[in-house]
Amino acid sequence: MAESFHMKSHEFRESGKRLIDWLADYYARVDQLPVLAQVKPGEIRASLPAEPPQIGVAIDTIIEQLNSKIMPGITHWQSPNFFAYFPANASEPSVLGDLISSGLGVQGMLWATSPACTEVETHVLDWLANMLALPKTFLSNSAGGGGIQDSASSASLCAILAARERATNFKSNERGCRENLVAYTSTQAHSSIEKDIRVAGIGRANLWLIDVDEQFAMRPELLEKTIEEDKRAGRIPFFVCATVGTTSSLAFDPLPAIGEICKRHNLWLHVDAAMAGTAALCSEFRYIQNGLELADSYCFDAHKWMFTNFDCTCFYVANRETLTHSLSVTPEYLRNQATESGSVFDYRDWHVPLGRRFRALKLWFVIQHYGVEGLQFHIRRHVAIAQKFLESVRKDDRFEIIAPAPLNLICFRVKGDDGLNEELLRRLNASGQLYLSHTKLNGKFTLRFCVAQMRTELHHVEHAWAAICAEATKLIAARDRGSHSNQAASGRE
Ligand code: PLP
Repeated sequence: MAESFHMKSHEFRESGKRLIDWLADYYARVDQLPVLAQVKPGEIRASLPAEPPQIGVAIDTIIEQLNSKIMPGITHWQSPNFFAYFPANASEPSVLGDLISSGLGVQGMLWATSPACTEVETHVLDWLANMLALPKTFLSNSAGGGGIQDSASSASLCAILAARERATNFKSNERGCRENLVAYTSTQAHSSIEKDIRVAGIGRANLWLIDVDEQFAMRPELLEKTIEEDKRAGRIPFFVCATVGTTSSLAFDPLPAIGEICKRHNLWLHVDAAMAGTAALCSEFRYIQNGLELADSYCFDAHKWMFTNFDCTCFYVANRETLTHSLSVTPEYLRNQATESGSVFDYRDWHVPLGRRFRALKLWFVIQHYGVEGLQFHIRRHVAIAQKFLESVRKDDRFEIIAPAPLNLICFRVKGDDGLNEELLRRLNASGQLYLSHTKLNGKFTLRFCVAQMRTELHHVEHAWAAICAEATKLIAARDRGSHSNQAASGRE
């Protein structure tokens, strides 16, 4: 019988070096790979052995299978030709920070279970709050502070839970106590808000989706009217989610007006800036968060545009006591002196799970590697490249721009019907040259082109535009041929 099946130290050392090389090689050639995985449903599973190995295999075999069986099913989010959805950047420093976090294997549920895990997180989130010029209420030396969550969806859920508790005087778990609560967001808010409202037991029927203006931003006068109607009907308005950079079109809800309404009616204001929040690293883009000082909570995803690998949502509250009072349940086995002293943060009370990884480490690596100026440089460059793309679309009268595009998301379509635009998207993505996604705006099928992948340079966007034009030319010609032959056909009748 073998003494141990664990990987030997020298094997770990050698394999680790090989796998870093593997990743570096991958990044070097990722621009050559078809961006969207070219496999059919079930193909990857069918290629895997039905049963696990009884006897462990060598790392060579594992790497060989990674290459031959898994890589064909990868959609390359790290490709510079990835323009779909919002990005999920994995910069090299964040990968290295995450590697150390994995290796340390720290479980930071309490300050006491690894003090550095908690204190680095608090510190880095304070750094970030200052880098983004967030309101001072979100700093840990005020009544508030920041912590890391897995996703914006979870951060918004925690905001809703804290708002629910504040509105019910921390009695929502007693029978009947939350029945009349009503929440508000816009028709353009991310679907996670509805999901969170369901999960929080508020109920989908108690979430109003407020209509938007022609720029796809929430109409505050409609928000207030709905709140007043609800109050007259005996309901209890308690929560508003405003979005800074909506998913469909990167629209910005008017925070000052919404914030004033929330103050007047004593509602919790949560601001979801999942993607666009990173833009505030640059002073010229900070206007997007005007009015944020009126918010009770705020989140943005460093795992989208701030080059930190998934998952890393930064969540801030203006009053941490309300949040932790809402989420804290303390059994005997978690009691400890540090907690009882009241002088430490226990981040288990800031989110739903108990356990938590040392995610702050990758953020710390990223901020140290790039520095504030390095991050600003890349954000500005993305916006400048996106604006060049916007200019090309604007100059071509076969296309129309569907939404304002002050930053890095361009929503556009070929003038014509939805079918033509759907086919254009299908062909572009099937080509493997680039990857775009779509949405519907004003009922029209719209292409979304987001410039936020860390490897994207101007030439990638120029190449993408050339591919879009080439496919559009073919489709428009086919349509025109079709309509001419239809006209000819109807002329003969
Ligand atoms: N909010 C907005 C505005 C988003 O755009 C997204 C995702 O794109 C989310 C929330 C959900 O993000 P996560 O995957 O971090 O939950």
